[in-house]
Amino acid sequence: ALFLGYRVMKRREKRRLSAADVMEAANAEAARDVGSLELLELIGRGRYGSVFRGCLNGQRVAVKVFSSANRKKFLSERSMYRLPLLQQHHNIARFLTSEEKMSTDGHRESLIVMEFYPHGCLSEYLSLHTVDWLTCCRMTHDVTKGLSFLHTELRRGELYKPAVAHRDLTSRNVLVRPDLSCVLAGFGASMKLTSNKPCHPGDNDSMAISEVGTVRYMSPEVLGRGLNLKDCELALKPVDIYALGLLYWESFRRCSDLFPGETVPQYQLAFQEELGNHPRFEDIQVLVVRDKRRPRFPEAWKRNSLAVWSLKETMEECWEQDSEARLTAQCAEQRLAEVTLLSPHTKLDDHSWRSSQPGSVYSE
Ligand code: ADP
Ligand code: MG
Ligand code: MG
Repeated sequence: ALFLGYRVMKRREKRRLSAADVMEAANAEAARDVGSLELLELIGRGRYGSVFRGCLNGQRVAVKVFSSANRKKFLSERSMYRLPLLQQHHNIARFLTSEEKMSTDGHRESLIVMEFYPHGCLSEYLSLHTVDWLTCCRMTHDVTKGLSFLHTELRRGELYKPAVAHRDLTSRNVLVRPDLSCVLAGFGASMKLTSNKPCHPGDNDSMAISEVGTVRYMSPEVLGRGLNLKDCELALKPVDIYALGLLYWESFRRCSDLFPGETVPQYQLAFQEELGNHPRFEDIQVLVVRDKRRPRFPEAWKRNSLAVWSLKETMEECWEQDSEARLTAQCAEQRLAEVTLLSPHTKLDDHSWRSSQPGSVYSE
């Protein structure tokens, strides 16, 4: 009943959008009547929907609009947001409500209304700002905590949350709060996992099991079609972890403390240096599966700081070729917690640190 209609109010900022995009959106939306939900400005284009900054009963919100062609993604994203316990976690995007309605041209449109994150996605934030050590650690730790929670099956009294694979973890599907804490979003491809069960045998979705995700972040087994579909949980969690490793690389490359006395390099997506802005599936396949290449560590990271050493180790253990050798999200979370406590300048051969940290994963 809240959604009597909506309209585009203004489109001042045209960041990230071509004029054509904005016009297209304006033409599509302009004729709507006004209700308590207003769409104010197109702020993002996802793979499945257009995202608007909007206003719901005086509250600033973000509205993701799915066309009828993407209705399955809408249903799937909404069913993820509605899972028990999900909305209580600090590192999952806040879902407010949803609505399905007929557009003026007779097509069904589906809307997800969620909290508005003014900094946008992590990738956007990092392309505009460098971050200091503690901030970078906290942001990546937040992403990891969110993923670790997602991957965990939970029972709290009557409530049951199955383990979930995100399946499209990228720096564009992480949103940044004003205090720079981070949340996971973009659950349109996510899947509930049941241990030791095949991935929906015979289901008409089973083709897609190995074919979702963003090409740039696809793991070797997805690219090589070597995904073991006999055990969904075993197959899909490491796919997320591979992408997490790439996300760490993108983030820490913008960490000012890891480039002492140097300018911090410009933000780059993983493999942007190698393959540019629109890598083709075949090119990523050759690079990642055949040549076993991974993003290159900057020269500055060759100095022997314990923090950098630990970080590189963690990234490498996330993006291992062999999916079974990768860290679990819980383990990555623990690593990030430990790395956060390090000074980025502590030397690797400074043994006083190790002996003063009993129980550390790095002590022998
Ligand atoms: P898709 O799943 O179709 O890729 P996303 O949910 O990832 O769509 O949204 C696309 C983009 O829109 C994001 O990368 C981000 O830049 C922006 N965006 C999405 N949700 C919000 C939000 N709640 N607040 C601010 N920006 C958002
Ligand atoms: Mg997205
Ligand atoms: Mg999405």
